[in-house]
Amino acid sequence: MDIGCHGLVWTNSWDAHGITHAIDGTVRAGYSRIELPLLDPDSFDAEAARQKLADTGIAASGGLTMIDGADISSADPEVVARGEARLMQGLDLLHRVGGTHFVGMPYGQLKRFSSVPTPRERENTLAPLRRVADRAQDLGIRMGLEVVNRYESSLFNTAAECLDYLDEIGHSNIGVHLDTYHMNIEEDDLTAAIVSCGRRLSYVHLGENNRGVLGAGLIDFAEIASALSQIGFDGPLVFESFTASAANDEIAEFLAVWRDPWNDSFQAAKASREEIARVFGA
Ligand code: MN
Repeated sequence: MDIGCHGLVWTNSWDAHGITHAIDGTVRAGYSRIELPLLDPDSFDAEAARQKLADTGIAASGGLTMIDGADISSADPEVVARGEARLMQGLDLLHRVGGTHFVGMPYGQLKRFSSVPTPRERENTLAPLRRVADRAQDLGIRMGLEVVNRYESSLFNTAAECLDYLDEIGHSNIGVHLDTYHMNIEEDDLTAAIVSCGRRLSYVHLGENNRGVLGAGLIDFAEIASALSQIGFDGPLVFESFTASAANDEIAEFLAVWRDPWNDSFQAAKASREEIARVFGA
């Protein structure tokens, strides 16, 4: 199986030093993929990442969200256009490092909303995502839209809602990206949510209910493994966890990380990798 570790487990400095630290740690902890946060594409050292990934032979995925002023879910066409340009820049960066999956929240901002998008805002996201998906397909990169909880998006919060939204987009290169942390908040039934995606599931984040080390919380990963095996999903499966000390204060504030679940990146990555091996047999 294709088992990855999220880059923010290690650092949020994507210069050559940070990239070396994150990729070396990921390999040493037993993973064959790293997910690279491309949130600040201008400061990301693509050449260093390309070289380090080639040297180690591990796979890469990446993603970025919309921000104020560059957001495809805006009602303002100029802001939508800048959002599409931001997505194309992130996709190009991922292609330059040799990445295979463009995932996360390309469809909007990660924040607490006070309402659902208007029909116009929702409609505005569709054409840019189709064009990004076309370009990704040309580059051999598969896309996934991450289903996140109600405090981080109001476009969709469940697998069923995401599948409806994907039907509106109507592009075969975009699938569902599920995350067990978010599913635990929103879904009625973990197995049913996974099975309902079937072949349209393109990417999975393994996160504990408290976003800490896998196996140290409440998520039933044996149930997740069984449901994924029912639909023949063979990855990527990516461990995701956040602390203020490994990422940074801005990320921590974004994600409401008010206490660090661990203080040693390597120990957290290794323990989580061992839990994946135990539960998934991979
Ligand atoms: Mn996630």
